[in-house]
Parts: sequence; C-alpha cells; structure tokens
Amino acid sequence: MLFVSTRGQVEKVSSAHAIKEGLAGDGGLFVPQSFPYLSQETILGMHALPYEQCAAKILGCFLTDYSAEELAECTAAAYSSEKFGEDPAPLRKVAERTDVLELWHGPTMAFKDIALQILPHLMTKAQEKTGSDIRIVILVATSGDTGKAALEGFADVPGTEIIVFYPEDGVSQVQKLQMVTQAGSNTKVFGILGNFDDAQRGVKEIFGDAELGNELKECGWTFSSANSINWGRLVPQITYYFKAYADAVANERIQFGENIIFSVPTGNFGDILAGYYAKKMGLPVKHFICASNSNNVLSDFINTGVYNKNRTLNKTVSPSMDILVSSNLERLLFDLTENDAIQVAEWMKQLNTEGTYQVSKDVADRVRELFFGAWIDEQETVDTIGRVHNDFEYLIDPHTAVAWRAAEKYRLLSSDDSYIVVLSTASPYKFCSTVLEGIGKAAGLDETDPFAAAHKLAEETETLIPPQVTALETMPVLHKNVIAAGEMAQNIKETLGIKG
Ligand SMILES: *Cc1c(COP(=O)(O)O)cnc(C)c1O
Repeated sequence: MLFVSTRGQVEKVSSAHAIKEGLAGDGGLFVPQSFPYLSQETILGMHALPYEQCAAKILGCFLTDYSAEELAECTAAAYSSEKFGEDPAPLRKVAERTDVLELWHGPTMAFKDIALQILPHLMTKAQEKTGSDIRIVILVATSGDTGKAALEGFADVPGTEIIVFYPEDGVSQVQKLQMVTQAGSNTKVFGILGNFDDAQRGVKEIFGDAELGNELKECGWTFSSANSINWGRLVPQITYYFKAYADAVANERIQFGENIIFSVPTGNFGDILAGYYAKKMGLPVKHFICASNSNNVLSDFINTGVYNKNRTLNKTVSPSMDILVSSNLERLLFDLTENDAIQVAEWMKQLNTEGTYQVSKDVADRVRELFFGAWIDEQETVDTIGRVHNDFEYLIDPHTAVAWRAAEKYRLLSSDDSYIVVLSTASPYKFCSTVLEGIGKAAGLDETDPFAAAHKLAEETETLIPPQVTALETMPVLHKNVIAAGEMAQNIKETLGIKG
C-alpha cells in the first residue's frame, strides 16, 4: 500500500515514510491509495480478540511494509494492561439506545493515548526500515491532551526529541500540570502567549521553513509530527470503531448489519475521520454526529458547505476542541472529491489567504448525508454533565457531554431511534471543576488548589481519583518556559543546541 499527498505534488511513499515525515512536502496530508474492505466474519471476530490483536489487524491493512511480527510487537507494547488496564476501549451501556465508548483508560486519561502510545513504536521501526540514522524531533502544538499523550509516548525513546507548545491560558489545570511535570531527558515543554491556533500555525510554519530544515539536517535532526496530521496517529483510531461495533453485537445491543450512529466530540477532525474510514472499510454506519463546542466552524461547514475560520476563538470548558482550523477535514475533502488534489489544494490555499472556502454542491450534499453537525454552548455542556449523572449515575467529562448532547439534539430533530455510540474522549477527572459545576457541587471550592476539585469530586460521586492524578500532587514542575508565538523557532534551535 502506498500513500499519496492530498495536494498531489509529491511522489507516492511507503507507510514507513509517511509516518516518519508526518506532513507531506507539498503541505498536504498523506492518505492511503485505497481502503480494504473487511468481511462480516472479520468484524464480528473482533469481539473475542484482545484489543492489541484487533489493532494489529487494522494496522496491517495499511502499514504493509511492516511485517505481521513487527505490528504485533508494536501493539503488544502499546496496549499492555499496565498502560490501559483490562480493556483500552470498553463499551458501557448507559441509556436505552445509547452506549458510551470509554477511550480514556490510558496513561494520560484522554483518547489520544490510543494513538500516541503506539506512534513512537511505529516511528522507530520506520527509522530502521528507511535505513536512516537521522534523529527525529517531534513538534507538537496542543490544545491540552495531545501534548501530554505525546510526551508520555515519546519520553526517553532513543533517537527522538519531543518539543511541545501549549496555549499558556488555554488548558485545564490538570492538563497543564501533566505537561509541566513531564520527566524524560528528551522532553521540552513551552507555554505560548496565544491560543491553540497560534501554536498550530507556528508549528506549521516551522515545518514549512526550508532554511531551518536545512540547518537541522546539518546537525543530524529532522522534524516530524505527532499531531493527527500524521497517518500513524490516525490509523490506530480506526480500530475502536470496529471493536465497538463487534462488542455491541455481542452484547445484543444491535444485530450485525444494523446501521448505527457514532457521536464524536470533534476538534481537529481526526477521531471522526477515523470513523469515516471505518465506514469506508465496510462498517455499517448510518452517519456520524460531528459535535462541536461554541467554536462551531465544523457544524457551520456541515450545514452550509462554507468553511470560515474568520471568527474569534472562544475559550470553552471543552478546551481540547477549541480549534478553528480542523486539519483533517482536508483528508475528507480529498476523499469526497475522488482524490481531486488540485481542487483540494485550491481550497486550502483559499483557507490560508482568505480564511474561508466553499465546496461544490456535490461535496456539500455528500458531507450532509454523512455527517450531522451540531454545536453545544457552555451552559448546555455543564447541564448535560449534571443530567447524565442524575439520570444514569454516570459521570462524563465536558467533551463527552458535548457529544452526548449533540446526540440528543439529533434524536429530537430526526425522530430517529437508531442505536448511538457516544465516544467518551477524556476522564472526568481531567476536568474536575467543570464536572463539579455540572453536578451542582462546585460551591466553596479553593480555586488555587488544583487538587481540591479532584478530592471533592471523589467524595461527592463516590468514585476513585485515578492514580495518574494522585501522582501529580507530588511531582516537581520541570518546565517553566512561557514564550511568545513568534519565538518558537528560536527556542527549538536552543533546545537542540543549534547556533544561529
Ligand atoms: C483531541 C480531543 C478531542 C478532539 O479530537 P479530534 O481528533 O481533534 O477531533 C476531543 N476530546 C478530547 C478530550 C480530546 O483530547
């Protein structure tokens, strides 16, 4: 299987190459040339298989230059019970026709662990395969969860350096503590005076800076990405859509062949795109609910066919979705235009210069058939946390609440009672203050103590504080740098010991 760029200006590459590079040289994203189709037997079989074997199966469809043994090694290391507990993606029955897929049982309590625990393994294998002894610098712009998950995945991985940029005032207290306490001889974390889009733009510019790239090369370094623009980040996420479906059949929630709905809290469009790819590979999905917070660029796009990022970025209680440019939408557009790279490149150019583009009527219609776009405001998000806890004795984080509420809106508007799986992307303990507010227990909280909320949440809900949060209480702060967005390149050079 070879990979092409969504902008069509580079040669086809192997999967190892696509994973190592992250972003294609023409600014586009790598996508596989074709998508295999999975049989009913294969899909149903996933229920009885351990998660790591399901993952190896999915990865094997695309990473054809990795041997089956190599993929088994990578998935076994990534999805061990030490890292994810018994099941990395348990499906919980919550309401009559709605289940929740819990994707936050990994080391950093966000669904991004599922991809970022395996990406370093795929990348070091890619290094071996492409016979290169150049060292990789992973650059990450994060709205909160990617940063920690990438740090945790890459810490002390030989031949790599990882540098993370997060918006200083745009992440939750626990998210920030998780990052600034990160150990590892190859890790570096910077707060940015700006929002996530400033950080992401900075990283994209650095990737496109040929001069800096050459300076790095001379010193034996090359840049790569752990953001969901990397194919190696996206492909592991396809697994849990199949696994969830197989589990739903086994649990007698649905019959095989029944078209179901996934509701996905969406930011960079990576998670939901993995679901779309699963559908392309034969998973019976009716459509996807694309749930946004008040940064509602995507739901506007789905409803109008116009993508317009010319608006202010709101800071919300679901910060991992505070994004105006959803990079992975480019991959969807490439697919829906039947791989029309010239058209895609044109839209992306318009996005860059004018901040907006409009897709053709055909593409807009197709998008609306596949996706239901809804956005949820702050009050509704908080209320939903309380209601779900009250009605079902089930605690959800603000991102999951956005997806839950979007699913409710879909049901109201469509009178469709299809079985829905809501993707739960973070542990409620990552966003304790908001969750407490939701369940009406936020009064009198000491805002200066980041752990007061966790303790209160545990008491009020009779749940256990995850060990990952408890550990943070005694970990020293190791990263104290806060810089302007314009200083990112300079700080990268200093980190790597490059003069000039
Ligand atoms: C990253 C993230 C999202 C958004 O996922 P995308 O793949 O960027 O669309 C949603 N919820 C949480 C908790 C996240 O960390």
